[in-house]
Amino acid sequence: MTANLATAVLLDIDDTLVDTRGAFRHALTEVAAEYLDAGANPEAVLAHWRDDRGGWYRAHTRGEMTHREQRKRRANDLHATFGGPTLDDEAYDIWDAGFERHFRAGWRAFEDAAPLLNALDERGIPYGAVSNADSAYQVLKLSACGLQRVPMLVGVDTFGVGKPDPRVFVEGCRLLAVEPAVTAYVGDEPDLDAGGAARAGLHGVWLDRPGTRRAGHDTAPDGTSRVESLLSVLELLS
Ligand SMILES: [Mg+2]
Repeated sequence: MTANLATAVLLDIDDTLVDTRGAFRHALTEVAAEYLDAGANPEAVLAHWRDDRGGWYRAHTRGEMTHREQRKRRANDLHATFGGPTLDDEAYDIWDAGFERHFRAGWRAFEDAAPLLNALDERGIPYGAVSNADSAYQVLKLSACGLQRVPMLVGVDTFGVGKPDPRVFVEGCRLLAVEPAVTAYVGDEPDLDAGGAARAGLHGVWLDRPGTRRAGHDTAPDGTSRVESLLSVLELLS
């Protein structure tokens, strides 16, 4: 992107404003202790979960699978890989209640989230969240992390599909009353976030926090910017 053009900012939530990876680490540590082989490597368990190698969360964001179904499949794939039992519906409900409780207990904002919002507020730059999770759930998450000033604009429930569908990015702009061409979209996934935003006519910005990449996330798509912290986003704004 050409520097100094964006005058509005749309933000991803998970692994962008909120350290969701850390919250998954917290939840999966508890899961591993209760369900998995004692020798399961915690980092391998976390990477397996985040990689979503079956593509089930992606299927959920295309409207093809419920949230419950995608998480149950991922739980059983995790168990199959690391020595846990197969979960039927009843066992999964118990598993998920524990997982969700520990996941929520791990929700934290990144240290650069509030400073970015402070700077945007000072400059009068409008911002809001566009996320591939359920809107009401994300409002809860933002509030738990002290980020309730971020308006939750578009969730996977808005259209029944999520990023990279261009409609969700364009709808975020419409709700902020800004043009896509002058709006930056910032997210941690290079193709789904930065590439998807660019294809929808926004400035796609890949937040590539050091040491947190998922498998296959190696390069910034054409026409997008790459930053290593949220505060670097300020350098891309007019
Ligand atoms: Mg994300």
